[in-house]
Amino acid sequence: MTVHTPVEKITSNAVPEQGVADITVAYGDGIGPEIMAASLKVLIAGGAKLAIEPIEIGERVYLAGNSAGIATESWDSLRRTKVFYKAPITTPQGGGFKSLNVTVRKTLGLYANVRPCSAYAPFITTKHPDLNVVIVRENEEDLYAGIEHRQTDEVYQCLKIISRPGCEKIVRYAFEYAQAHGRKKVTCFTKDNIMKLTDGLFHKVFDEIGAEYPTIEKEHWIVDIGAAKLAAAPGQFDVLVMPNLYGDILSDVAAEIAGSVGLAPSANIGEQCAMFEAIHGSAPRRAGQDVANPSGLLLAGVQMLIHLGQSEAAERVHNAWLKTIEDGVHTYDVFTEGVSKQRVGTNAFADAVIARLGQKPTKLAAVTYTGAPRLNLPRYQPKPMQKKEMVGVDVFVHARMEPDTLAMRMKDGVFGDYQLKLITNRGVKVWPNGLDETFKTDHWRCRFMIDEGKQMNGRMVASLLDRLTQAGIDVVKTENLYTFDGEPGYSLGQGQ
Ligand code: NAD
Repeated sequence: MTVHTPVEKITSNAVPEQGVADITVAYGDGIGPEIMAASLKVLIAGGAKLAIEPIEIGERVYLAGNSAGIATESWDSLRRTKVFYKAPITTPQGGGFKSLNVTVRKTLGLYANVRPCSAYAPFITTKHPDLNVVIVRENEEDLYAGIEHRQTDEVYQCLKIISRPGCEKIVRYAFEYAQAHGRKKVTCFTKDNIMKLTDGLFHKVFDEIGAEYPTIEKEHWIVDIGAAKLAAAPGQFDVLVMPNLYGDILSDVAAEIAGSVGLAPSANIGEQCAMFEAIHGSAPRRAGQDVANPSGLLLAGVQMLIHLGQSEAAERVHNAWLKTIEDGVHTYDVFTEGVSKQRVGTNAFADAVIARLGQKPTKLAAVTYTGAPRLNLPRYQPKPMQKKEMVGVDVFVHARMEPDTLAMRMKDGVFGDYQLKLITNRGVKVWPNGLDETFKTDHWRCRFMIDEGKQMNGRMVASLLDRLTQAGIDVVKTENLYTFDGEPGYSLGQGQ
């Protein structure tokens, strides 16, 4: 086996030794270089066959004028190796810097964020010794689409984008993961009692795809009560799948209640590429002191080896790590007087894991990765197109006036077989028959609907907007209202 030192660059022309996997490695900022060197040392000692291509990302790249924190040449390496092992980076203070993580995830189509979180009681102090969950978070959509606008003096919006392919891919991933890892239950968290179309789609797809996995128990919780239960009694959960924002928040909660954010790994998986990292940041105050816990990044390395088909090495490293934790060899963040036996730094911790390679834990459960089935993740197949009919338009208006006055002026714009049916303010119906008590801002949604049996079209909307503009109405946006096979593709106003 060829062992490449972490800084050695293997060119794409080099013929890789059989079974050796090319990976791109970023050492990152703060504690990043220390925990990456320690993790690679353990993985390689554990039998990982890796040819490493280092790239630079993060603070220095940002400050050199690259607002995404990653140089153009680095994408060539990522596209070539398709596997990214990434240490945390520091995002410089001040505006104008884009999130490197969001850029990499979205550019490489890394749709699934997989975060296993376990308690290691009684060796690592936790209120929840029975915690053992895997959070599968959708990674590309939801409010993270980053489409935000300011529309009036008082109102800003962020679009929540949820797509059927996005839902199908992540939900299938969660069930396939559960099946491959012998997990018994998949729980879905959404807020579909409020967001009936977007979160409603996620829930619907969960039910559809879940039906293909009869041996796995399925359940759905509204995210607020689900989150409360996860924090109070995590033992009742196994695999969890959820849209991006809920998953972002709850995976940190789960990591923290497990004992330390320093322990949790994260895999970002796409159809072609994958990225593996710790969930924590670059902890700049701990940098250069050889004290940081490399466990999160090391366990992300274990996920990477499984992804690369190097399951034996993954199993050996993970079991040696569990034995180290069980033997009470702990870094400062998880060290507890009376429970821990030896307080060590980053390097000594890595050496302690290496010394236990080949051993298994005796009290904590040992892991088995060899022989696990590969995940069956078919490409998304678009459904047949549905019959789409335009039945109206929502016209959003910036105005400071009473709803009745606004309604009168909006009605003046009507010229055709459609009517002004409704005005809402922040989603609540204020016309007709609104209540004085309802608080109103300067942002109004005016809903025009076509008469029964007729169809609206783009020309009608254009002429409506033209007349409204001539009448001095400040239109800030429109949304066409469609039915799909007769089903409304829009929500009702609250109170309608
Ligand atoms: P952080 O995760 O770096 O640190 C939070 C706390 O956890 C600190 O008290 C730190 O000492 C401790 N901690 C974190 N990792 C540890 C480890 N491995 N061992 C021991 N203790 C550890 O979060 P922060 O302080 O909010 O952010 C610092 C920088 O990291 C910021 O620039 C932020 O933007 C960046 N960040 C990067 C990533 C990433 O690259 N994926 C993720 C989160 C934050």
